[in-house]
Amino acid sequence: MRHIVIVGSGPAGYYTAEAALKLWGDGVRVDIIDRLPVPYGLIRSGVAPDHQSIKGVTRRYEATASSDNVCFVGGVTLGRDATVAELQHLYDAVVLATGAPSDRPTGVPGGDLPGVIGSAAFVGWYNGHPDHAALAPPLIGAGAVIVGAGNVALDVARILAKTGEEFDGSDIAAHALGQLGRGGFETITILARRGPHQIAMTPKEMGELGHLARAAPVVDPADLPPVEDDAALDPGQRKSVALLREFAAQDEAKPVRILFDFYAVPLRIEGEDRVDRVIVERTRLDDVGQVVPTGETYEVPASLVVSCIGYRTPPIDGIPYDAKLGRFANDDGRIGPGLYTVGWARRGPTGTIGTNRPDGFAIIDHIAADLPAEGGKPGRAGLDALLAERGVEAVTFRDWRRIDQAEIAAARAGSPREKLVSIEALLAARA
Ligand code: NAP
Repeated sequence: MRHIVIVGSGPAGYYTAEAALKLWGDGVRVDIIDRLPVPYGLIRSGVAPDHQSIKGVTRRYEATASSDNVCFVGGVTLGRDATVAELQHLYDAVVLATGAPSDRPTGVPGGDLPGVIGSAAFVGWYNGHPDHAALAPPLIGAGAVIVGAGNVALDVARILAKTGEEFDGSDIAAHALGQLGRGGFETITILARRGPHQIAMTPKEMGELGHLARAAPVVDPADLPPVEDDAALDPGQRKSVALLREFAAQDEAKPVRILFDFYAVPLRIEGEDRVDRVIVERTRLDDVGQVVPTGETYEVPASLVVSCIGYRTPPIDGIPYDAKLGRFANDDGRIGPGLYTVGWARRGPTGTIGTNRPDGFAIIDHIAADLPAEGGKPGRAGLDALLAERGVEAVTFRDWRRIDQAEIAAARAGSPREKLVSIEALLAARA
């Protein structure tokens, strides 16, 4: 019997478990630890609440979770309830699938003013993550500025721009829906430090901006490169840029403007005791497409700044870490003997949910190649003993099913669920 523990129950964690089952069948026991009492990580807390079809992937993880050989061990915090070294002692392989839940710092003066929020916190807030449910971002005033030109920037712009009715069928947290309904910005500015050809926005997500009830995207035609240059782009990027061209050509006025400000980088964020404006510097690109500041600056009024410039994996004491890349130092997922990493914690915050599947299968191939012929580690029995010694009562998958049912039962009309947004409420719903 092989005993594998995976830390993190997001996509990378569940695909790794699926791969282990596929390879070893009844010859493996997989435990999936999570600090939260609920599984699925980024699917629950990161994927936008109005993208329910993407969240449907959890049905695949449920199939893995319902195997007798896979156990969800929720409410267990690495470092507090069990250390990596202890897990290495108990299991044949430890896989860190802890994702990238921290924001990359803005590095801009004024970036710590109230009203400047990282996307991890902002997305966690509207998705009802217990760490961020109490965020209460400023949602009214001079305008909102979003920094970054990736899909998270598009998610944040869309969530800020939608009407209450446009959230029908979503599982946006009730507190966020209420607060968004009481607020609203007339101008949402997306600051992209490079040009339309360098965006990291995919066509489906870009296209959604063109179909909002009260908001319209605004693109300055002067920012668009000559149309013939689009031929050099890959097909997905070409579609996104074609949408930008459509936005630039349309003159439909709506009450809310989502303004694409290309070649623009925040220089500093200013305000007395909270953000009031962003001082933006115009950029240009050099011959290899890198950003060059031009020295030209201007002011964008803002009472909310959401920085969507990527995420980092928090380091763990004693585990090799690449501070520059913001992830565990690893060689194709191998960190050290018996210790592996997968998903965003391995490669950084890139790719789609599906990218994590080959990642999970690859790491299981490495583990299979590295495992000694003889097992003999205690696995789950050892973990249970350790947690009992520390007075930690883990949350099981059966508990999660009860929480799930409670959330589904509490859903407002048309919504799939009403998320419980505190650890206490989640634990209480197990009963
Ligand atoms: P991302 O795709 O890496 O985009 C980050 C953006 O921030 C880039 O435009 C980058 O510009 C910019 N940036 C980085 N550092 C900056 C700085 N210091 N100042 C100004 N701009 C800066 O990251 P993301 O949007 O957080 O998305 C993470 C991953 O999740 C991506 O793979 C994304 O596709 C995926 N995702 C997918 C969906 C979906 O499929 N619906 C939704 C959300 C997220 P440069 O290019 O110049 O570096």
